[in-house]
Amino acid sequence: MSRYVYFFGGGRADGKAEMKAQLGGKGANLAEMTNLGIPVPPGFTISAELCIEYIRSGRYPAELKEEVAANLRRVEQQAGRKFGGAPHPLLVSVRSGAAVSMPGMMDTILNLGLNDSVVAALAKETGNPQFAYDAYRRFVQMYGDVVLGLKGSRSPFEPLLTAKKKARGVERDIDLPADDLKALVGEYKAALKKLLPSGFPEDPEAQLWGAIEAVWRSWMGDRAVAYRRLHNVPETLGTAVSVMAMVFGNLGEDSGTGVAFTRDPSTGEKRFFGEFLVNAQGEDVVAGIRTPEPIEVMAQRFPDAYRQLVETYQRLERHYRDMQDLEFTIERGKLYLLQTRNGKRTGAAAVRIAVEMAEEKLLTQDEALLRVTPDALDQLLHPMVDPKADLAVLATGLPASPGAASGQVVFDAQEAFAWAHDGKAVVLVRAETSPEDIQGMAAAKGILTARGGMTSHAAVVARGMGKCCVVGAKAIEVDEPAGAFSVNGRKVKRGDWITLDGSTGRVIEGKVRLVQPTMSGHFERFMSWADARRRLKVRTNADTPGDAKRAREFGAEGIGLTRTEHMFFEGDRIDAMREMIVARDIDGRRRALAKLLPMQRGDFEGIFTAMDGLPVTIRLLDPPLHEFLPHEREEQEALAKQMGISADALAATVESLREANPMLGHRGCRLGITYPEITEMQAQAIFEAAVNVTARGVKAIPEVMVPLVATVTELRHQADIVRRVAAEVFAKAKRVVPYLVGTMIELPRAALTADEIAEVAEFFSYGTNDLTQTTFGLSRDDAGRFLPAYVEQGLLPADPFQVLDQQGVGKLVRLGIELGRGKRRDLKVGICGEHGGEPSSVMFCHEVGMNYVSCSPFRVPIARLAAAQAVLKESGVEDRTASTV
Ligand code: ADP
Ligand code: MG
Ligand code: MG
Repeated sequence: MSRYVYFFGGGRADGKAEMKAQLGGKGANLAEMTNLGIPVPPGFTISAELCIEYIRSGRYPAELKEEVAANLRRVEQQAGRKFGGAPHPLLVSVRSGAAVSMPGMMDTILNLGLNDSVVAALAKETGNPQFAYDAYRRFVQMYGDVVLGLKGSRSPFEPLLTAKKKARGVERDIDLPADDLKALVGEYKAALKKLLPSGFPEDPEAQLWGAIEAVWRSWMGDRAVAYRRLHNVPETLGTAVSVMAMVFGNLGEDSGTGVAFTRDPSTGEKRFFGEFLVNAQGEDVVAGIRTPEPIEVMAQRFPDAYRQLVETYQRLERHYRDMQDLEFTIERGKLYLLQTRNGKRTGAAAVRIAVEMAEEKLLTQDEALLRVTPDALDQLLHPMVDPKADLAVLATGLPASPGAASGQVVFDAQEAFAWAHDGKAVVLVRAETSPEDIQGMAAAKGILTARGGMTSHAAVVARGMGKCCVVGAKAIEVDEPAGAFSVNGRKVKRGDWITLDGSTGRVIEGKVRLVQPTMSGHFERFMSWADARRRLKVRTNADTPGDAKRAREFGAEGIGLTRTEHMFFEGDRIDAMREMIVARDIDGRRRALAKLLPMQRGDFEGIFTAMDGLPVTIRLLDPPLHEFLPHEREEQEALAKQMGISADALAATVESLREANPMLGHRGCRLGITYPEITEMQAQAIFEAAVNVTARGVKAIPEVMVPLVATVTELRHQADIVRRVAAEVFAKAKRVVPYLVGTMIELPRAALTADEIAEVAEFFSYGTNDLTQTTFGLSRDDAGRFLPAYVEQGLLPADPFQVLDQQGVGKLVRLGIELGRGKRRDLKVGICGEHGGEPSSVMFCHEVGMNYVSCSPFRVPIARLAAAQAVLKESGVEDRTASTV
């Protein structure tokens, strides 16, 4: 047996699905299908390790030549054909495929093995010279493009083809007669020779090796590199190379090709879903050049092959226990499978498929829970077009990836990237997208194409990104150079606003109101399974009753962080707040605070009521006071007038409050320590609100949180005030509401002295945003200048403000919990930084024994699922099929 090469054909294969690392997903699944007795053209796969070796050294082991030659002989035997020979020539495809699927990101060469004498044999054998010369023409072009690097502006082929069609007066490539195609091949080769003196290689063996090396090189191509960066795919995987006998979907009206999903990749509905082209080669469907027909057409045109395809897909789905994405070709009525893989899908489809497969007993509930990446749930909560809005629908295309997005139209991927970088919302509009567009697609809010089907490049990539996308909007005529598209006599120019509805395919003029969707039954069932498993509670960060209510609908079990200062920015409240800050003395401050008190109390009543029966953590005033002050002269004059002081005096106060380093300055509990009356007012508002709503039958559970504590003395100072005010309010109201006083742990010193702090604190809440800043000694607001370079160069695995740094910051978290619980066994511990909604960080919080995580309302379901997956992973539950993706 070969060392580097794995054969498949005739019902038997050297490889199998589990050998993805060596064979790539494509090669491993071709082997698996062969072993299952599914019709696959014979071929062999070269192990991915050689790609890495080739990229490193530019070489491959000498034995490979012999192994490939020997395997090629076996393919010839199986196919009953001869590579480079007559009367039955063997043509092959040379295909890329890594362990992780990267659709369309690397290169594939079709129809390899043709030269002037082989093409004559093929024409004779098939009795179809038009087909033979069309295959030849495509091959020379593809070889020039992929292997010889004549791409884009260097490519001489397209103008020659266009000229031929014009001379013949036809529109479609397939309408060119054999003689024209034959002449075209000659012209292609001559043009090629002018650019590259070595010319087109006539020797099939030389062609084969050229193609194998080109596939290896495509692993380092721009598209592949960009895709890997975007999806965190390691570069060390390399691509395998599969060489297999060609089958032809373009031999005539009795042939065709298509792609299909075993379930709807957009909604998850259980129905066979696909697209099909009669008399075409596989790449035509994916490239979006001709808009394909629905798979049902195949049922009518090729009933036998269709029946066989249906049996095959059902079998493959049961075998892989996941939704499959298939490529197939029919050659003169006979069906061949060319690829199967676990299909990419939207978040909604992922949930529905997991739930239904569990209900069909194809998966266990645990496996279903592991099937959905928590971040995929994000898409389900995304906005949709307000059903009540008045809409000017410009066109309707195919609903390729759901959600809705408004943005300014751009026609170029680089421009999309640049505009998005400047903070603009953009919709990328293209005739069709190509893999070069990937970064622009990632930057855009939505993607619209005029051509292509549900399996076109744009559709597949957008679904993978969870991005709203409409494809095949045929009514739209895109003029990319002019920067405009026209539709039914209307013109939409670069920079104009449009809205896309990826759930219905509508393209809408202007910026439309978007609303939040309601959850489907599948989602609810799925989340109930997750809830039954998790131990970590999930709370939300919410500053208003509206946010609190929404989060509760998403399953929040309390509020982990209410930032009181956010309430002070609204309407005329800011005036009272400013008055308080610039007050000269304590009396002035108290007067201003008295104005703020009823407003705060009202806010807390609203939040307690929205969270009836659930705990609400309220953080005392935290940010530097400076943030509240007017900095423009005009604003200062207005405020000064209102307060009856001179504008200059006010400006001087503002200036005096300026700090060199506000994030480490006069903020957090330091405010309440220097101005205890602020803490008094806030405590009074909290407890009066609690008492008031209790009288109305609402169950309020306040947890008062002191920010930015470094020493237990600070906390004791503030806690004493809070407890004294609570006692006063309860005495006056003759009603007691149970409450807790605790602190944020967001400074290294607090974590290091957590045992002392736990003597006073009844709970800890890790403020991992500040804790990350202070542990790294870097300012989040300034990190944009250098942190991306750190991640790019691999100095940090991820942005520590997005993904909790478990080694460093995490060590402080762990230590603080240990020390704290050592002193107070029932110490409640949570997290309220951004990380509370990031799946890997949530799993860490579970692992270190936190009681809850708290995150923004939209991330609550994500955290619920991550918390359930943490339990499953801890107890060693695995998705049995995850290894065969
Ligand atoms: P990608 O990974 O970009 O999907 P593929 O290797 O799957 O690239 O090849 C692209 C297209 O070429 C596919 O649609 C497939 O149907 C077609 N193709 C590949 N190999 C063959 C073959 N041996 N016979 C017929 N069509 C093929
Ligand atoms: Mg493919
Ligand atoms: Mg903080």
